[in-house]
Amino acid sequence: MTIDLHSHTTASDGELTPAQLMALAYERGVTTIAVTDHDTTDGVRPAMTAAEMLGITVVPGIELSAETDEDGDVHMLGYFIDLDNTDFQTRLGEFRENRYHRGRAIVRRLNELGVALDFAAVEAQADGAPITRPHIARAMVAAGHAPDLQTAFDNYLADDAPAYVRRMKMTPEEAVDLIHSAGGVAVMAHPGRVAAYERILDRLGQHGVDGVEVNHPSNDQAVKQRAAEMAAQYDLITTGGSDFHRPERDGTVRLGAYHPPAGALEALRAKAAPTDAT
Ligand code: AMP
Ligand code: MN
Ligand code: MN
Ligand code: MN
Repeated sequence: MTIDLHSHTTASDGELTPAQLMALAYERGVTTIAVTDHDTTDGVRPAMTAAEMLGITVVPGIELSAETDEDGDVHMLGYFIDLDNTDFQTRLGEFRENRYHRGRAIVRRLNELGVALDFAAVEAQADGAPITRPHIARAMVAAGHAPDLQTAFDNYLADDAPAYVRRMKMTPEEAVDLIHSAGGVAVMAHPGRVAAYERILDRLGQHGVDGVEVNHPSNDQAVKQRAAEMAAQYDLITTGGSDFHRPERDGTVRLGAYHPPAGALEALRAKAAPTDAT
């Protein structure tokens, strides 16, 4: 049994359609996969449809982007959310609308910096998905403004780069509450990407977060160990996932290579609110 609890599709900034992702998961021996797109659940049902004939189980998921003044971005994964919760879907729609305006603002800033990029090219990359920075990076690469995605990030789009624009503000606690309001369980994503992750885990542990993503490509050994200690302290479920968006630059495919500890999936499922889903 191979489980991967963090993946993206073309419904957000992944490069494979839900059906293509399921085919790759099958090839990689993944038996359970959480689809955790940014601010949308549109990829989940198509993934379930494709997964059914492959014998793969899909966990309905989401990745929300929260922010703190002191410690920057904090991403929150939600699992076993009720896809039909209308208040939840309304909030996701607001985040997506904000992403549209923020995407336009980033392109304006790029234009001011001398990068002649059309917002239409970004929209073409997103193809209806919420606008994320990787879509902008892809449009820049396609137009010859950067040799590859990472260079576009390093020179223009990274959090500390000149074309960065913030998203709508939501605190990590609000992200936890929003996931809970849709019957889901909330897991702090990739602490290795948050410099002050210990301070955030202290906050979230006291706020009722359900878990922390210990096994992730951005978590080094020290982060894994410390996050696991803090998980024990706050009685959190430790999870894992590859955060697959596309094959890496060197061709490596991470999908299915970052496992949650044994029992994590069952623990998450047990903590989620019961649904009518069969
Ligand atoms: P956004 O939610 O639009 O701010 O975009 C965030 C996404 O951009 C993340 O989920 C990553 O996929 C990607 N990303 C963020 N920072 C970097 C970076 N420095 N280098 C490469 N990719 C990044
Ligand atoms: Mn992403
Ligand atoms: Mn993330
Ligand atoms: Mn992710």
